[in-house]
Amino acid sequence: MDKQRQPAESQLQAKSPFELRVNLGRDVPESDVRSALASGEMGFVHSFTTGSTVDGPGVRVVAWTTGCQFRCLYCHNPDTWWLTNGVPVTLARATEEIRKYKDDLKIMAGGFTLSGGEPLMQDRFAVKLFTKVKAMGVHTALDTNGALGGRISDDELRHIDLVLLDIKNWNPEGHRKLTGMELAPVLSFAKRLAALNRPVWLRYVLVPGYSDNLDDIAQLARFCRELGNIQRVDVLPFHQMGRFKWTELKLDYTLADVIPPSKELVQHVCDQFRAEALKAY
Ligand code: SF4
Repeated sequence: MDKQRQPAESQLQAKSPFELRVNLGRDVPESDVRSALASGEMGFVHSFTTGSTVDGPGVRVVAWTTGCQFRCLYCHNPDTWWLTNGVPVTLARATEEIRKYKDDLKIMAGGFTLSGGEPLMQDRFAVKLFTKVKAMGVHTALDTNGALGGRISDDELRHIDLVLLDIKNWNPEGHRKLTGMELAPVLSFAKRLAALNRPVWLRYVLVPGYSDNLDDIAQLARFCRELGNIQRVDVLPFHQMGRFKWTELKLDYTLADVIPPSKELVQHVCDQFRAEALKAY
């Protein structure tokens, strides 16, 4: 991508990933998209946000990539499903965007998180960006659904200080129903991270009627304890904040009538993880 086509600051920054963004990369020729994916020299990014305190330790700058192979029924950012909804941004430009904050991030014991969408849909871009950010001395975190973990090598994983891993359902059929995809590759990545002793925070979205089976959660909690590398579990109550995007994108939103879980249920699920000696919030 030549210099003239670099995105403006206002295109890259968003107040939150809840801003609806479509077609920002639609003019990029198919051949450029393919070579970007192969080389990692260009990525597609929904936005950069600053000041997050929920996407890893401390205060974080987060880059939200576009492209996701999952179709989670509760997804609150379905505009990130398609790669070319994102802004095309060179690796150098993305690196500069993070460099601006590096001193503050260190002072605030925070760092950089690559989220999405699914960042590993752009695995070469992700690895190259993590390598650059880590070289600045900034803590790095990958927020992933885990299914494409096989795309990054053990060596490349060393540039990622923390993996925020979503396991969306312990039951394979329930996982398929909720995400449209198989559970097995996710668990295999979880086991690989454990074998490498890489730090992981588990994220579990609690959706009434879809991921609130307490027996399944108990088994998931046991699995997490046995892994031995899960530093923390975040139980995230389902919410309706992304609903407007489904409407705007004319997608069939099947969870319209689902009510967020009660505080008591969230507490109970946290307790199930705590019963396996895990820190759960
Ligand atoms: S993995 Fe994340 S971005 Fe992809 S569909 Fe699920 S919630 Fe949405």
